[in-house]
Amino acid sequence: MNGKARRVKQKLDFSRTFAQDAGCARCGYNANAVALIFTEVKTSPVKLSYDDYGWQAIRRAASKARVVCLNCKEIEKHEMLKARYA
Ligand SMILES: [Zn+2]
Repeated sequence: MNGKARRVKQKLDFSRTFAQDAGCARCGYNANAVALIFTEVKTSPVKLSYDDYGWQAIRRAASKARVVCLNCKEIEKHEMLKARYA
């Protein structure tokens, strides 16, 4: 693994550990980090580019973000659409 790939992996590991420590903001799920995502206040995903972002930017984005599981993300999306169009 070259230096760049290793740095990307370290940042990915950090974000997964961060997400798992936080757990889903709705249901508390944290068993598997791949099912957890970062969202901003509501539903737009935080763009974390592990390649270009420095550590400071990653930590700042992670600390501002909200962590939810994919299940709850879909439920929230559905609720939002229902509220908008029902
Ligand atoms: Zn959840």
